[in-house]
Amino acid sequence: MLCDAHCHFFSSRFLELLSQPVPGLPESGRADAVASMLGWEPPGSAEALADRWVAELDRHGVARATLIASIPGDEGSVQAAVARHPQRFVGAFMFNPAAPDPAGRLKTLLEDRGLRMVALFPAMHRYRLDDPVVDSVFEAAAAAGAVVFVHCGVLTVGVRKRLGLPSPFDLRLGDPLAVAAVASRHPTVPIVVPHFGAGLLREALMAADTCANVLLDTSSSNGWMKYHPGLTLDAVFRQALAVAGPDRLLFGTDSSFFPRGWQQPVHDAQVAALTAANASADVRKRVLGGNFARLFPLS
Ligand SMILES: [Zn+2]
Repeated sequence: MLCDAHCHFFSSRFLELLSQPVPGLPESGRADAVASMLGWEPPGSAEALADRWVAELDRHGVARATLIASIPGDEGSVQAAVARHPQRFVGAFMFNPAAPDPAGRLKTLLEDRGLRMVALFPAMHRYRLDDPVVDSVFEAAAAAGAVVFVHCGVLTVGVRKRLGLPSPFDLRLGDPLAVAAVASRHPTVPIVVPHFGAGLLREALMAADTCANVLLDTSSSNGWMKYHPGLTLDAVFRQALAVAGPDRLLFGTDSSFFPRGWQQPVHDAQVAALTAANASADVRKRVLGGNFARLFPLS
């Protein structure tokens, strides 16, 4: 069973919120205007986009996927997608704990609205992972049985660049060693570090090695490998399997918009790398879906 732990739900509301600072866009039909600037299909309603995703997953033989609401304020779109296809989608959301009332917002999103993964982007929202507010996020996740995702390493948001939006990120704030510190205080909360640490592979492996609740996602084309001379995806998988083991790697693609759709080439490259890393059929099964099913059991 193939499951994708990392997809972005680029809804109409997402495009509306993201493009607020872009001048000259119409107020009505704003999402469609942005989609057309980007050369994307207009996402339509959240329900229509959810159906588009299901058809796409069916076409590629993907059983389930995590959908990330990728800007604060767009959680309702992912909630609607999950409500429409609860057997296919797990709801995740970008969360800024530095904004007002983090505890109240989290309680609503996790307990009332049924979303299952909080996604933190400390470099984007510019807070430290050792800030007490981050502990409160982990406490809320523990109470709700939710997962916390922490983006570390290099962070680029392609759609922001395309729209000419500034991205004043502070990459020092996304450090897997800071994740390890908070992970060790909240051992019951599963924590996902995406893209093998996105350039901080060594630190991500150190975090996984010392904290049994840290998992790594394999998503995206892993372009960060350019920072490591000679590094190959085969070697990344071999090392991650050796350190984190086969139960703590989650397959993902980082798919996001249509018409590009689900990123089959990313999947194919990862399966080839797993094979080259001598992963057995059993290990491949765990990485490609078994670990996802354990982390996000169907209710
Ligand atoms: Zn992503």
